[in-house]
Amino acid sequence: MNLTESLRWHERARKVLTCNGAQTLSKAAERSPGTYPIYLKRGSGSHVWDVDGQEYIDYVCGLGPLILGHNYPRVTEAIKRQADDGCLFSLEHPLTVEVAEILCDMAPCAEAVRFVKTGSDANEAAVRLARAYTGRDVILSCGYHGWDNTFQILELGRGETGVPWELEYTSISFQFNRWDQLEVAFDGHRKGSIAAVVIEPMRFEPPAPGFLEKARELCDKHGAVLIFDEVVTSFRWARGGAQEYFGVIPDLACLGKAVANGMPLGAVVGKREIMDAFDRCFVSGTYAGETLSLAAAKATLETIRDEPVIEHIWRQGERLRDAFNALARHYHLDAVSRGYGPCTCQTFNGPDANLLKSLWLQETVRHGVLFGGIQYIGYSHSDEDIAHSITAIEHAFAFLDEERGMNNLSGALRGRPIALDTFAPGGRQ
Ligand code: PMP
Repeated sequence: MNLTESLRWHERARKVLTCNGAQTLSKAAERSPGTYPIYLKRGSGSHVWDVDGQEYIDYVCGLGPLILGHNYPRVTEAIKRQADDGCLFSLEHPLTVEVAEILCDMAPCAEAVRFVKTGSDANEAAVRLARAYTGRDVILSCGYHGWDNTFQILELGRGETGVPWELEYTSISFQFNRWDQLEVAFDGHRKGSIAAVVIEPMRFEPPAPGFLEKARELCDKHGAVLIFDEVVTSFRWARGGAQEYFGVIPDLACLGKAVANGMPLGAVVGKREIMDAFDRCFVSGTYAGETLSLAAAKATLETIRDEPVIEHIWRQGERLRDAFNALARHYHLDAVSRGYGPCTCQTFNGPDANLLKSLWLQETVRHGVLFGGIQYIGYSHSDEDIAHSITAIEHAFAFLDEERGMNNLSGALRGRPIALDTFAPGGRQ
């Protein structure tokens, strides 16, 4: 592998950018092993090219948004057509209405839509809306919902993190699937002041039977707003997101990532009665109605609605996940690929976990497959891509097995190991 240009850009970045150049934590070079590319410059369908000209099958997909693939013709054409007409206007543009209509058709809870730019925006806006609607302050939250204070007070806690620690009285965390913790929180000393429960309905672990239903029931009983963070699950689990897939309808849902196939767009959608409280709580942005992203969203959502996108990503993702698990068993590796097909995570266990994961990434990338911390499958991943990727996994596992047999795992790593859990608090993306 040639990393000459990647390393050159990395050196330049260290001088002028923060965090060694990483604008997004999960893209930081520190989170990849030494022989992994750092800079990519082109993508087409399911393939990407790095700055040294090497080609890979891409499973990181921009950290999830590229559900249709890079430079997907229908989306690219929509963006170009819109660019010819202008990207930002000083009054409303019909695209906001058109995309909102599609979202209201697709997401079961959606009776009204508010556009923002990112998943973090959507969660922060939903929380503010819930507080305005209920007149209460406290948020019950589980998992990652963005970089805003509301959630980071739970992730980072006290210390010189830039988050005022007084905010710790406004958020309470609970663990996924622990509805008993939700019950305790609702009945505890903040009883009567809980505005909302924020849950990502699933990441890699499915909700336990009754968990989402119980959250729904508790919110109804205590007059709190149930918010599903569907930044990842919307348009992946089902056309209507995880709420459709699991059959539990939240009051509000936060959308992002795949909504515009990589263009920056997020949205809060939800029940009209609650959404109407936006007229008394301030959420606003110069770029919220930016039309290139809305044109991309329209083309993306119409494709997801009209073509077998969801079926495809499930099928291809499950093939890849199942092959990983079968090969791990075959080579007696303590490793597992978890999650549903559209979004999986590979965990290596035991004392050499980080080393094994680094070697797996190193060896698969040498065989032309770009795996990352989380794999996202897209509509462009072909049967050939999946077959090639399974062969790459097999090569990597055979290599690991051999080096392990020779007691040479650390010698086999051509660079530094990834530090998945040490680079930053929470290890977020
Ligand atoms: N919620 C979830 C579940 C996420 O995975 C992410 C980002 N990975 C966010 C919110 C934040 O989205 P963004 O990075 O677009 O702000």
